[in-house]
Amino acid sequence: MWQDIEQNGVQAVVARISDAEAIEMTERYGSHNYHPLPVNIVRAKGVYAYDGAGKQYIDCIGCYSAVAHGHLSEFVCETARRQLDKVTLVSRAMYTTELALLLKTVCEYTGMEMACPMNTGAEAVETAIKLARKWAYTIKRVPQDKAEIIVAAENFHGRTTTIVGFSSEPQYKQDFGPFTPGFITVPFGDIEAVERAMTPNTAAVLMEPIQAEGGIIFPPDGFMARLRKLCDANNVLLIWDEIQTGFCRTGKPFAWQFEDAKPDMICLGKALGGGLFPVAAVAGSREALSVFKPGDHGSTFGGNPLASVIAIAAMAELQTSNLAENSARMGARLADAFRNIGSEKVLDVRGRGLLVGLEVKEGVDTAELSSRFIEQGLLTKETRHRTFRFAPPLVIDAATVDEIAAKTKAALQ
Ligand SMILES: *Cc1c(COP(=O)(O)O)cnc(C)c1O
Repeated sequence: MWQDIEQNGVQAVVARISDAEAIEMTERYGSHNYHPLPVNIVRAKGVYAYDGAGKQYIDCIGCYSAVAHGHLSEFVCETARRQLDKVTLVSRAMYTTELALLLKTVCEYTGMEMACPMNTGAEAVETAIKLARKWAYTIKRVPQDKAEIIVAAENFHGRTTTIVGFSSEPQYKQDFGPFTPGFITVPFGDIEAVERAMTPNTAAVLMEPIQAEGGIIFPPDGFMARLRKLCDANNVLLIWDEIQTGFCRTGKPFAWQFEDAKPDMICLGKALGGGLFPVAAVAGSREALSVFKPGDHGSTFGGNPLASVIAIAAMAELQTSNLAENSARMGARLADAFRNIGSEKVLDVRGRGLLVGLEVKEGVDTAELSSRFIEQGLLTKETRHRTFRFAPPLVIDAATVDEIAAKTKAALQ
């Protein structure tokens, strides 16, 4: 096998493996921590993905919002290719110009003052938690080990042991304890509950502006702005996890921008990688980010030159291609089209920009519906609350949005 790979190239060996064989190999050699759709993707371009038999799918999963630019964006790919002839990986023991420009552009894009680069979303959340706690002890003067972070029920912030410890989803935490203390859970969108939960030891409130994994759940109008005011009044940091909602997914660069709710820190990931590479970061105020001193935190791959140029290109393309505006228009078109399907199986359609949830009624066989979607050539998967998520790449056009609606109608019938 090694010689075959060396002589013919990895892609040639991959090309000889059938869809069925790939699925069998994955199940045999891989841990079973996912339950994928029975679809094996061999290539993708733009909003489309293809299996080994050549069947075309519209990718409405979009890697949970990480594929915002479409698969293989020309600009992002060209940027990566050029970097492969230059330098890709050093360490934070040295400076690189690529990281310098990434930090500046992330701050400019988010309106923040400093940033800390990471690789994955969960790492960005962990970083924000560490920053919030150190800020609480060193600036707010909370007694050692007493800092509290308020989080929402039904949250999703990633899969590390600290993060699943404050999840309210039983399966995420069952058999993985003991968990990190210091997190207080309140119902999502309940400003009075947040107020009641605040104590002199509260370091931060950490929430998603829209709970995407939770089933595309919106807080009441005005919640984000009221939360900002409440945090100000109590000297508490506001941290938005915009790993899924950020970078134009909801029709604005960030979902908090629908209200006067600018955070002290923002967690970034997914689409920051341009659909190519894991890139994540925390950006925030100088006061919050300045608490890290050399040695406090780190990541071997965080902010490497290849990741940096990809993320810079990703942000530039969002700006120059007006993808926020396209997301707003196409998302509204998709949600309207879903509402007009008029199926008795649909309970609710919720969305903002190209983050759209189609909730089906109790009693609808969601496994069966899932197979119908695949038959129709639509990739979508259920999140919580019997809600199918539609988060296609933001480069989608009106004709393809209409096609999604038509295929969804057919799948429901
Ligand atoms: C995906 C996601 C994360 C975790 O990101 P990973 O890159 O999978 O670690 C955290 N928060 C939110 C809101 C997410 O959607």
